[in-house]
Amino acid sequence: MNPFHASVSTLKGVGSVKQKALLKMNIRTLEDLIYCFPRDYEDRRNRLPIARLTPGSAAVVRAAVVSYERLSNSRNGKSQLELTVKDDTGVLKILFFNASYVAKVFEQGGEFFFYGKIVGGFKEIKMLHPDFSKADEGEGRDILPVYPLTAGISQKDMRKWMESLLPMIAYIDEYLPPASIERNRICGIAYALENIHFPTTRQKFKEARYRLVFEELLLLYTGLKTAKMARINESGIAFERDVDMEAFKKALPFRLTEAQSRVLSEICLDMESAGTMNRLIQGDVGSGKTAVAAAAIYKAVKSGFQTVMMAPTETLAKQHYNDFTELFGGLGMKVGFLSGNLKASERIAALEDLCSGETDILIGTHALIQPDVIFARLGLVITDEQHRFGVSQRIRLSQKGKSPDILVMTATPIPRTLGFIIYGDLDISSIDERPPGRLPVITKAVRGNKRNAAYEFVRKEVGLGNQAYIVAPSIDENEGSDLKSAAGIYEELQSRFREFSVAMIHGRMKQSDKDKIMGDFAAGQIQVLVSTVLIEVGINVPTATIMLVENAERFGLAQLHQLRGRVGRGKRQSCCILICENDSEDARERINIMLASDDGFKIAEKDLELRGPGEFFGMKQHGIPGMRMANLLKHVKVLNAVKEETAALLAEDPELLKLENNNFAKKIESMFISAGEIGI
Ligand code: ADP
Ligand code: MG
Repeated sequence: MNPFHASVSTLKGVGSVKQKALLKMNIRTLEDLIYCFPRDYEDRRNRLPIARLTPGSAAVVRAAVVSYERLSNSRNGKSQLELTVKDDTGVLKILFFNASYVAKVFEQGGEFFFYGKIVGGFKEIKMLHPDFSKADEGEGRDILPVYPLTAGISQKDMRKWMESLLPMIAYIDEYLPPASIERNRICGIAYALENIHFPTTRQKFKEARYRLVFEELLLLYTGLKTAKMARINESGIAFERDVDMEAFKKALPFRLTEAQSRVLSEICLDMESAGTMNRLIQGDVGSGKTAVAAAAIYKAVKSGFQTVMMAPTETLAKQHYNDFTELFGGLGMKVGFLSGNLKASERIAALEDLCSGETDILIGTHALIQPDVIFARLGLVITDEQHRFGVSQRIRLSQKGKSPDILVMTATPIPRTLGFIIYGDLDISSIDERPPGRLPVITKAVRGNKRNAAYEFVRKEVGLGNQAYIVAPSIDENEGSDLKSAAGIYEELQSRFREFSVAMIHGRMKQSDKDKIMGDFAAGQIQVLVSTVLIEVGINVPTATIMLVENAERFGLAQLHQLRGRVGRGKRQSCCILICENDSEDARERINIMLASDDGFKIAEKDLELRGPGEFFGMKQHGIPGMRMANLLKHVKVLNAVKEETAALLAEDPELLKLENNNFAKKIESMFISAGEIGI
C-alpha cells in the first residue's frame, strides 16, 4: 500500500482534535497534507533591523516581546492585541486583529520572528497581523513556509508535520510521463514537493512551483481531451439527413440570421453523425438561441424521436411552452409541459402521454429529472440557461434516453482561453450576431437622489406606449436595511403612476398568479412590472423597452447584463437605468463596465477579472478538480505549453496505454473520480 494513503492520525502530535481540525481543511491522508502548499514564505534572509523598516512593504524582523495590551474594537466587538517588541535598533508596535487567538503565545522576553506588512506614517509605524514564529523554531532554515491554517492548527504544527514527511517524499512514484518531463524540462515530483515546502533558494522554489502548476493543468487538460475522444467513438443516434427544414423555416415568423444558420448547420452535422452530440450554443442575450433549439427539435421529432427541454425557472419554461405550442402545433407536433406545480391529475396525464409516445416535445423545470418521468424514445436533450444548473442535473436528464444528443444553451459567454476547461468536453457554437433592426440599449447610471427624475422619464416613455420593468434586490423591506424592495416600490408606484396599470411579480407568488401576470404583461395589459430578479433569465417580451434597476450596486455584472437583455428585443429604442445608492469603488467599477460595453463577452471577461475564476458563475460549486497551484487566469502561458504537450503525448499514445504512461493515466482517473463529473 502507498504509505501516503495513511491517515494523518498516524503522525506524531495528531490526536482526534487535530484530526478534526485538519478535516476542516479537507486534509485526511498524508498525501492530502503534503499537497497542502504554503500560501507564503517567511524569508529570514530579508530580515531588517527595526530602525530600517519603511511603510508600504512587508518585512521580517527578529525581536523580543516587551509588553502587550488588549484594545477593544468598538466596531465589531472583538478585542485586538497590541504588542510592543524591540531589537537592538528600536521599538515596534504590532497589531493583531483577534486578540484571543494569539495572546497566549507572547510571554515577556520571548524572541520571535515577525513577518508582515508595515503601515504608518512619518512618526510611527506598525506591523499588521503578521505571521510569526519562535526564534528557535525552524533552526537552520532561512526560508520558512507559511501555511493556510484553521482554528486548532498552528503554523508550528504544520511545519513540524511537513518536516516529518520530508524523508518519505523520495518514495513517491513519478506520475507524469517521462517524455513530458523531458520535453518541458520540468523537475521531478520529489524535488518539487521538497522545494515547495522548504525551498533553500528562490530559484528552487520557482522550479518547484512551475512543475506543480504544469502538472495540474496537464492532468486536467489531458483528462478532458481523452474524455472527449472517447465520446466521439461512442455510438449514439444518427438522425435523418434529409429532413426538410424548409417547412420549419416557413413556420417561423422571421428569417434566421446568418449566425443562427451557421450554428444550426453545425448542430445538424452532429445530429446526423453516429456519435453523440454534446454541444453548447453560446450567444449573447437576445441573439435568438431559442429558434435554433427549435430547429434542432424539429429535426429530431421528424426523425421519429422525442425531445426534452429544461429551463431554470417555471416562468421561463412556461414561456417556451407557449411559444412552442404555437410554432409546433401548426406543424403537427404535440408539446407537453411538466413542473412541480401541476395538479396530480394533470401530472399523471402528462406522464402518460410522454410514456406512450404521444408527446413529441416536453418542456419543463428541473421537475423533469424525477424518476417517474419516462420517455418512449428520447433522442435530444436541451437545457436552456445551462449556467443555472449543476452538472449532475444535465447528466441525470440525459440518462432518460439511450445516448441521446445533448444541446446546452447559455448567454454567459466564456473567455476563449477558458472555454475548453470550463465546459469540459463540450463542442462550442457561437451565435455572434443579433437579429436585424435592433438598436443598442442606451444605459444610464444615476444616483439615488435622482430617482425622481428617473421615474418621470419612465412616465414619459410609458405614456408613449412603451412598457417598463422595475427591478429591486429583495421582495420585502428588511429591518435595518435601506435596500429597495419590490413590495415597497410597488406600493409607491401604484400611487405615483395612477394613469398606468402597475403589477408586481416575485418568487413567493403562486405559479398560476405569476403566469397570469407575465401573460398580461406580454399582452400589453400591464404597463409597469415591478419585479425581483425572477425575470433575470430568458424572459422575452419584445414590447418592453425600459429596464430600471434599483440598488444596481447590489447586482453582479453577469446579472446586470442579463437584466438589461430583457429589453432591446424589439424595433423600438430601449433604455436601461441603473440607480446606485452606494458609491463603493467596487460598485463604481462594475457600473462603469456596464456603461462602457453591451458585449456579453467583454463583460464576462471583466467579471472574471474582478471575481476570479473560482467565483465565476458557480464554478466553485461544481469545482474544477485538482487546482491547488494553477490559476487559470494567471497561468495562460503555462496552459499554452500544456496544450502542446497534451497534443504531443496523445499523438504518441492516444489512449495512454503505454507502460510509461500508466501512472499518469491512473492519476487522471482518480482526479476525475474524486471530482465527480466535470464540465457544466
Ligand atoms: P436568447 O438568445 O436571449 O434566448 P431569444 O431566443 O429569446 O433570445 O430571442 C430573442 C428575440 O429575438 C425573440 O423575440 C425572438 O423571436 C427574436 N428573434 C430570434 N431570431 C430572430 C431573427 N432571426 N430575426 C428576427 N427576430 C428574431
Ligand atoms: Mg433564451
